[in-house]
Order: sequence, then structure tokens, then C-alpha cells
Amino acid sequence: MARCPVCSVEIDLTVVVTAPFCSERCRVIDLGRWLDESYAVPEIRHGDDDDGDGEGPLPGGPMAGDDDE
Ligand SMILES: [Zn+2]
Repeated sequence: MARCPVCSVEIDLTVVVTAPFCSERCRVIDLGRWLDESYAVPEIRHGDDDDGDGEGPLPGGPMAGDDDE
């Protein structure tokens, strides 16, 4: 499973016609970055510093222990 270099969403290369990007939009965004090497794309991030630099929720849980007591 590959990931879109722009938004890091998982994509299926056998299905997505805009591979390696998830969509035409992301492809244009990446193209724009190359043309405009100054990365003038506004970052999408929240202003509050909640946990430093969390890159999103972890897949699955921290541990799959059974709670049988
Ligand atoms: Zn994307």
C-alpha cells in the first residue's frame, strides 16, 4: 500500500488513476511545489500546541490486553 506524498493518505495503486497521488488535486499541489520551490503552500495544522508534533492517531491501540478481571 502506497501513500500519497502530499497528504499521506493510503492509496491503492491498482485503483487510483492519479497514482502516486490520491487525487488530481494532490497531484497539482505537488506539481505546484516543484514549480514554486519556496513551498508557499499554507500548512494545514491547528494552532494549539497540544502534544508537540503529533502526526495523527496511531493505527490500532497502544496495547491489546484483555481486561478480564
Ligand atoms: Zn493526497
